[in-house]
Amino acid sequence: MTTDAFTRVPVREQAPEVRAHNFEEVCLGYNFEEATAEASRCLGCKNPKCVGGCPVGIDIPGFIGKLKTGDVAEAYDVISQYSALPAVCGRVCPQESQCEKYCIRGIKGDAVSIGKLERFTADWARENGIRPQAAKEKNGKRVAIIGSGPAGLTCAGDLAKAGCDVTIYEALHEAGGVLVYGIPEFRLPKERVVKPEVENVKGLGVRILTDYIVGKSITVDELMEEEGYDAIFIGSGAGLPRFMGIPGENANGVFSANEYLTRSNLMKAFDSSYDTPIHAGTKVAVVGGGNVAMDAARTALRLGAEVHIVYRRSEEELPARVEEVHHAKEEGIIFNLLCNPTEIHVDENGWVKGMTCVRMELGEPDASGRRSPVVIPGSEFEIDVDTVIMALGTSPNPLISSTTKGLDVNRRRCIVADETTGATTKPGVFAGGDAVTGAATVILAMGAGKAAAKGILEYLGI
Ligand SMILES: Cc1cc2nc3c(=O)[nH]c(=O)nc-3n(C[C@H](O)[C@H](O)[C@H](O)COP(=O)(O)OP(=O)(O)OC[C@H]3O[C@@H](n4cnc5c(N)ncnc54)[C@H](O)[C@@H]3O)c2cc1C
Ligand code: SF4
Repeated sequence: MTTDAFTRVPVREQAPEVRAHNFEEVCLGYNFEEATAEASRCLGCKNPKCVGGCPVGIDIPGFIGKLKTGDVAEAYDVISQYSALPAVCGRVCPQESQCEKYCIRGIKGDAVSIGKLERFTADWARENGIRPQAAKEKNGKRVAIIGSGPAGLTCAGDLAKAGCDVTIYEALHEAGGVLVYGIPEFRLPKERVVKPEVENVKGLGVRILTDYIVGKSITVDELMEEEGYDAIFIGSGAGLPRFMGIPGENANGVFSANEYLTRSNLMKAFDSSYDTPIHAGTKVAVVGGGNVAMDAARTALRLGAEVHIVYRRSEEELPARVEEVHHAKEEGIIFNLLCNPTEIHVDENGWVKGMTCVRMELGEPDASGRRSPVVIPGSEFEIDVDTVIMALGTSPNPLISSTTKGLDVNRRRCIVADETTGATTKPGVFAGGDAVTGAATVILAMGAGKAAAKGILEYLGI
């Protein structure tokens, strides 16, 4: 394999015209030869800036150094000391704004492709049956974790490695949180990638109880007082969707992105052998411009629809990852930018039959620093759609906070927790991930799960 030191080894992908019609993974990843060639571009910096950009502080030159010599098992050993979900992170972390943003190679050429190397290492380890090591001795402490997303799984894994007896309570019938119900199959395969990483956490001795809605099946106070847990971690995410409050939003054919994606990912609506189909739509508008909007749009496309993204700011302000926007455009998603819906039209049977939008222009920067969109008077126009998917963000479900004595939330309904220890306002109860920050990223949730595991061990005197 020939490569110059300034250019990253390209990664193979399914061609856009092919992948637009299937749910197979878009990115095919590196093979051994490509991975070792890319690893050889790493300078093994003494003061590695990339590590400072990783929310869980993975020893990046350490694992890439092992890859350089072709020792993938050792490379996996380094990563698994820091991350319980490397095959997931290697696929969905926004590396361009984290580790790779700070890579010294990026000054005069391409940053080292750290994410793709992490993905290769984790995939190789899985395919070769290498698993993280379980704790040798138990410490007698019992911890309950609420939610099996990246925050809960990471906290559980770290506590189990320290010898705690850990049980996860998960509301859905499958473990993984957004990794199984939100992020689509074509970006994150469930059976091949997510399940084995969840199994690795179980392999550390963690018990996962599914179909348990904490706040309904059992409360936090009951877990402490009746079940006798020594500490609790809440990693229940931010799964409550927001809507616009415009006329027609209750019509049949209007979905939250969460519902649309859950039906496709978790309930396998895309697979005709399952008896849980979806009203996929033939002309679909997805309102929003984040990763969730791109995922919903690309899912609807694969289900056979013509898909329009409707976003009120310009391309520059799109919050989605650049790679996701690029992939969406390649596949044929139509972008209606500087445009906002004002009404959804409904037919006599209660189904969506169109949508009125207005054109926007950008005014002065708002509190977020982004220029705020302002309506252009008299700019109304119609879009011909039969399905509308709202991807406007989510907030934490208040079920747990409203059923737990002494657990404070802020005005956004996020649980109040200390950033370094995860301690909440209720003694013995810790929290982290989207439930605390609002919708964020996998790696930030994992970082919070790790910090809380440390906080819990300290609280338990271990
Ligand atoms: C469609 C989509 C695409 C995304 N794409 C990316 C991406 O590309 N890269 C990235 O970094 N991030 C992405 N994110 C964000 C990322 O997935 C989240 O920030 C992350 O999953 C948060 O982890 P968490 O553990 O805090 O919560 P979650 O993953 O939401 O997990 C919370 C878990 O708690 C369970 N739960 C909730 N309430 C209860 C209860 N009362 N009792 C028991 N269990 C409960 C839920 O069922 C869920 O399984 C995406 C999010 C979505 C929705
Ligand atoms: S900054 Fe880049 S070159 Fe330096 S150790 Fe990290 S990945 Fe390697």
